[in-house]
Amino acid sequence: MTRFAIGVDLGGTNLRVAAVNEHGGLFDHLSLETLVERGREDVVDRMTNGILELVNRWKDRYQLAGIGIGIPGILRLKDGVLVASPNLPGWENFNVRAQIAKRLNSPFFLENDANAAALGEKWIGSGKDVKHLCFLTMGTGIGGGLIFDGKIWHGVSGMAAELGHVTLYPGGRLCACGNRGCLEAYAAASAVVSAAREMLQEGRASEGLQKLAASGSKLTSARIYELAKEGDPSAQEIFQMVGRALGMAIANFINIFDLDTFVLGGGAVEAWDAFEKSMFEEVALRSYVWRNDPREILKSSLGSQAGIFGAAYLALG
Ligand SMILES: [Zn+2]
Repeated sequence: MTRFAIGVDLGGTNLRVAAVNEHGGLFDHLSLETLVERGREDVVDRMTNGILELVNRWKDRYQLAGIGIGIPGILRLKDGVLVASPNLPGWENFNVRAQIAKRLNSPFFLENDANAAALGEKWIGSGKDVKHLCFLTMGTGIGGGLIFDGKIWHGVSGMAAELGHVTLYPGGRLCACGNRGCLEAYAAASAVVSAAREMLQEGRASEGLQKLAASGSKLTSARIYELAKEGDPSAQEIFQMVGRALGMAIANFINIFDLDTFVLGGGAVEAWDAFEKSMFEEVALRSYVWRNDPREILKSSLGSQAGIFGAAYLALG
């Protein structure tokens, strides 16, 4: 009998629940809205109802291997408490595991969403042929996941691989975590917008960027990327900043871990061609290991589904 698992990706906006078989086939899914404003208990209710709906739909035809749930934020794995989560306001110090366990009568795995996405890439994505992998997800913030010997590296508390918060520039731009100069403050989608605002305030923005800001449309990293593609010098400078920050961080990770492959995922990776040149230059400049033995730095092949596959694999692997 074919085995299957339920994979859940709980995001700040979207709540996705999927049934995935042991061969990596996603054969059923529910796309829900998180509706975080309704309160955390309501979100957990709808998530567990979605899980039970898919379990009941398929459990007679296939064998249920288990349930895996990826959630955003800093998750203390030993007790299942979500310590902090910028994407889920009001969930600080919430015991997510206890709340889910109350509603599900079967065991489940809980995981940080970036760790789950890293595992998904390792299972059937850009990292499927390697043993060791570093994953960075570039969205509003930057999440990280480390896979050593095919397994997620959790550290002592379960909070390891907060790779977006390594310090690159002491005294640099303020990060959402409270530190200054983090990778996230220079390479996340929000950093692209912050850098554009700084240029505008300092009176050194290009004509194109000034026009975009004056047009009344919201300043987003996607719009700034469109400008960069059109050759706008300020927009291109911003993505060079992104590339340098990523390259610096990746060079550090190569020097420390000497892993096979580095995978970049998340929405902001769409701007790859605008930042890759400065990223690779920086990696080559700062990593002696890389210069002597270059390894792969790749785009995610699973895109926004990496987290769902990884969550399912927590139960299937
Ligand atoms: Zn930070």
